[in-house]
Amino acid sequence: MATPANRRGGEEKSVPHIRITDEKYLWDNYEEGELIGQGTFGKVFKVRHKETGVDWAMKVINKEKAGGQGIKLLEREVTILKRVQHENIIALNEVYESPKRMYLMMEYCEGGELKDGLDKSIYTESETLTIVRKLASAIKYLHKLDIVHRDLKLENILLSQNPDDPDDKLHIKVTDFGLSVVKGGVGHDNMMQDFCGTPIYMCKYKLVDLWMKVYLEILKQPNMV
Ligand code: ATP
Repeated sequence: MATPANRRGGEEKSVPHIRITDEKYLWDNYEEGELIGQGTFGKVFKVRHKETGVDWAMKVINKEKAGGQGIKLLEREVTILKRVQHENIIALNEVYESPKRMYLMMEYCEGGELKDGLDKSIYTESETLTIVRKLASAIKYLHKLDIVHRDLKLENILLSQNPDDPDDKLHIKVTDFGLSVVKGGVGHDNMMQDFCGTPIYMCKYKLVDLWMKVYLEILKQPNMV
């Protein structure tokens, strides 16, 4: 199985894309678990890889429901996820595809959304700075690869377990690349001028301005990763 450790960022990773005629081939390798959540085009389940015992988040998309436009967004998300490898960006491990559905096996983030923590105001100033630093590192990495996320918001930042430090409660993962574009890619000129994203975040442009200042300040730090 491909692991994040044997991949180099920016190149197409060897993420297996397995065409299946029947779902039963999927269940030969995975055990189905609880439903984690539901998005616009599909559901996310926790599943366990039978051989390794590793838990994954399986995003299932019904192609018919998604429609032509939805499938286009999904294909773009998959293409981008295949190129990226960064400790603060969600890793895509495998893709299964049947005539009716697409199954994305992604790193499982047991801490849920960063938003939940912030709603409960549990982060200190120094913890917040750590989160912003990690986020800036992930964005800087994406921009180096000419990838623009276009839908950064708290709901798209998940909390995962840090394999190198079990006490790390701030191991963030940027996710949801459905609206992302690659600069210079097909149609990118128009897309870079589009208004997109989530309205409430777009309206709070002053907050985004402030956030950008913090982000730029962090990027100036010599020890920035
Ligand atoms: P939309 O697709 O409309 O933007 P969304 O981002 O909520 O909505 P999904 O990405 O399908 O949709 O996610 C659905 C739910 O599953 C969300 O609550 C999200 O937090 C959770 N989720 C998604 N990916 C993971 C993951 N890798 N690990 C744990 N939970 C996840």
